Amino acid sequence: MIKIPIIDSHTHINSYDSKEIPTIINRAKQNGITSIIDASVDISSAKSIDLMTKKYPNVFGGIGFHPQNLTKELNKSEIEQMYKLITNNKKILVISEIGLDFQTDSPPREIQYKAFRKQIGIARELNKPIIFHSRFCADETIRILKEERAYEVGGAMHYFQSNNKIASELESMGFKISVGKPLLRIKKLENVINSTNINNIIVETDSAPQPFKKDRRKWTEPKDCNLIIDKISKIKCENIENIAEHIFNNTFNMLKNGSNWLMKEHLSYGLI
Ligand SMILES: [Zn+2]
Repeated sequence: MIKIPIIDSHTHINSYDSKEIPTIINRAKQNGITSIIDASVDISSAKSIDLMTKKYPNVFGGIGFHPQNLTKELNKSEIEQMYKLITNNKKILVISEIGLDFQTDSPPREIQYKAFRKQIGIARELNKPIIFHSRFCADETIRILKEERAYEVGGAMHYFQSNNKIASELESMGFKISVGKPLLRIKKLENVINSTNINNIIVETDSAPQPFKKDRRKWTEPKDCNLIIDKISKIKCENIENIAEHIFNNTFNMLKNGSNWLMKEHLSYGLI
C-alpha cells in the first residue's frame, strides 16, 4: 500500500445504494485513500452530499449543477439553495460538477453556457476552486474559463481525455489535470501525462454505479486511485511514493482555504 495519503478528488459515491456507501468508503480507507471528494449533479444529490460529509469524516463535497442535468436555466431558488449548501458546510471544498457537454443529446448549449458562467461567478465570489467537465468542447471550455476569469480560483478539468495542447493551456492558466482510469487504457493519454508537469496532476475515479458491468467487483471505486497513481509512476519513471506525494500536495494547493479544513479532519481522525 502507498504510505502517502491519497485524495480521490472527484466521485459520485452518493449515487450508490445507501447500504453500499459505508463499504465503499471502508474499501477506500483500507487501500490508503484517506479522503474522497463527492460531487453533486443537481440539488437532490447536493443535499445527499451535505448529509454524507456530516456522517463520514473522510468525505468532502463539491456542489454544482452538471451540464447534462440541466433541463432548463438555473432559477433563483436553485441558486439560493446552492449558496446555502456551500456556505453552511465547511466540508464543501469545491464547486462541482459544472462544465459543458456537447454530445448530440446534451441539453441546449445556451442553457449550459449560462449555467457554467453563473457557477464560475459563484466560485469566484466564494473563493472556491472549480472541478469542471468538458466533453467534445475543450476549446469552448477554455474560452469560457478565460472570459469568466476562472483562473482566479483555479481547479481542475476532470476525467481528462483531451490532448497536449489543451493540457498545456490549462497548465498555463494554473489549472490541474485530473486523471482517471481512462489513463489505464487510452495510449495517447500516456503521452499527455508524460508531457504534463507532475505539479499539475491530480487523480480521481469519478466513481458512480456501473450496472452495465455485470461483475460488481469491476465497478470503479475510490480505491482504484492506486491503479492510476501506479500508472503515472510508470509513465514518469518515478518512485510511486514520490508521485503520490506530489499528487497529495497538488490537491492541497488546488483546494487553498479548503485544504486547511481537510488537513484538520485528516489529523483529528488519524487519517494521516
Ligand atoms: Zn463526475
